[in-house]
Amino acid sequence: MSILIKGGTIVTATDQYAGDVLVEGEKITVIGSALAIQADRVIDAKGKYVLPGGIDVHTHMDMPFGGTTSADDFQTGTIAAAHGGTTTIVDFAIQYKGQRLHDAWETWMKKADGKAAIDYGFHMIMTDLTDQVEEEMDALVRQGVTSFKLFMAYPGVFMMDDASIFRALLRTGKNGGTICMHAENGGVIDVLVKKALAEGKTAPKYHALTRPVRAEAEATHRAIALAEIADVPIYIVHLSAAEALEMVTEARDRGLPAYAETCPQYLFLSYDNYEEPGFEGSKYVMSPPLRMKDTQDRLWRGLAFNDLQAISTDHCPFCMKEKHLGDGDFSKIPNGAPGVETRMSLVYDGGVRTGKISMNRFVELTSTSPAKIFGLFPKKGTIAPGSDADIVVFDPNGKQTLSAKTLHMNVDYNPYEGREVTGTTHTVLSRGKLVIDDGKFVGKAGAGSFIKRSARA
Ligand SMILES: [Zn+2]
Repeated sequence: MSILIKGGTIVTATDQYAGDVLVEGEKITVIGSALAIQADRVIDAKGKYVLPGGIDVHTHMDMPFGGTTSADDFQTGTIAAAHGGTTTIVDFAIQYKGQRLHDAWETWMKKADGKAAIDYGFHMIMTDLTDQVEEEMDALVRQGVTSFKLFMAYPGVFMMDDASIFRALLRTGKNGGTICMHAENGGVIDVLVKKALAEGKTAPKYHALTRPVRAEAEATHRAIALAEIADVPIYIVHLSAAEALEMVTEARDRGLPAYAETCPQYLFLSYDNYEEPGFEGSKYVMSPPLRMKDTQDRLWRGLAFNDLQAISTDHCPFCMKEKHLGDGDFSKIPNGAPGVETRMSLVYDGGVRTGKISMNRFVELTSTSPAKIFGLFPKKGTIAPGSDADIVVFDPNGKQTLSAKTLHMNVDYNPYEGREVTGTTHTVLSRGKLVIDDGKFVGKAGAGSFIKRSARA
């Protein structure tokens, strides 16, 4: 099967030019101008951008949390991702206490197998670092699970002590893996949560008020310091506070390999959402929480100046019925919100169209840079001969009103309900196969493959 994408504007992290792209089998084989080549199918991309497929390196499909499970599984979640122009996700497998990493990985492989409509990889969440588990990290890296997520928050559940964090960091110096960190001071937050509840402060907004920006900044600083001592890179996930960004900026200015992502919710929503009437604020309960509105400009500046290297979603939706588990106790509201489908349009509309970031930077933040950091490049993350034909034909003038009713994520609300965005996904190829054709899903559950990622050189 060959597909010729004709007459579009090809954009990568570095280039922008008019050209045609020929796809044969799973790969991009030829790029040129006015290609006179026969193909089984021709896609007219006139007036549209031809972009490398979006890569979302932070999703939680089918994830147990606080007595429930995130609403999207690997089928609904990856179909929604494809609708939004994302062709690869890196999800999180979870090692529970006492469990072998390999068993945890197998559990998540089974969740995705036969369901995922686009390609996927896994990070491994580690909660229990015994000597044996430390050795197992090396085997996992060889099997293509090359990053490990640790938590400085959620004591008693996910949180790891500094000594274990440091040991894991040291190990990645040997095996070429990368540590991803949830950076919030969980001990401090726990005390603040108990105190708030004891004072009768139970509404959703107290989720945010008990997770201060300094708790994120402190943990971010500590994580980077531990990585500096271990002499290895570190990647801070879902950075939300300007005060935490300052820690990353300071480290990068000293030449340290400190990386961080932020998410659309921190760029487009704010603390004010928690003040919505009734229980509405629960829709935005996630960790770290939404911050004050003036944070948004500072995050955009971090994205523009490369102090932040990626935009992921932390997609982890729960329906309102689940959110209501936290009626009368904000600490029982499942943490997370939907986002995998809306990332590209939101960032294009609110970032490129407003002039905050360039078109090249948009591609870099949503695809190329995460591909490079997490060992997917140049198989994925660019448009080049030999790369996987993960391609998005993106309509810069397409308009869409974001709504839970019309989006495809398996959740009954949307945090951006009613917001109109300009810039929509028109057609999507995943490894050479059409998955979205003129806005309609034409792919297949189970067509996505596990992607073995490379270790750091
Ligand atoms: Zn997450």
